[in-house]
Amino acid sequence: MDDSERCPCGGATYRECCAPFHRGAEPPDAERLMRSRYAAFVLAELDYLWRTLHPDHDDRSRDRRMWERELRGGLKKLRYRKLRILDTAPPDADGVAQVLFHVTLSASRRDASFAELSYFAHDGDGWRYLVGETRALPNPDGITLADWSRS
Ligand SMILES: [Zn+2]
Repeated sequence: MDDSERCPCGGATYRECCAPFHRGAEPPDAERLMRSRYAAFVLAELDYLWRTLHPDHDDRSRDRRMWERELRGGLKKLRYRKLRILDTAPPDADGVAQVLFHVTLSASRRDASFAELSYFAHDGDGWRYLVGETRALPNPDGITLADWSRS
């Protein structure tokens, strides 16, 4: 995409937002990593999606080429429309940070929007995606981590 266009994550221009991360810089915190991973899904930046998986993420034990083929096939059917960050929590005693977000998207023209609570940890090089828990959440506005854990 053109660097001067608005970043898919909804931030500033791509050049000022997620492009530096996709080109090798490390996001400074879990939320920036999450946003840049969303933008990478939109732009099919598969190298970035692989690189930012935590070593403990389940997909890391898979064959990378198979992972990539499946993901590439899946992404073709998806139309990402909007990312909303709902809430975040800073790293806990174990160094695990949380980001609660909502993604508006369609899959094969049907609504496939979802909310996810993602967990991130720093692996010494940068913030990495550890694991996520997704739910359908028709009315995400104002939902906090406390609401999520209660329901
Ligand atoms: Zn961005």
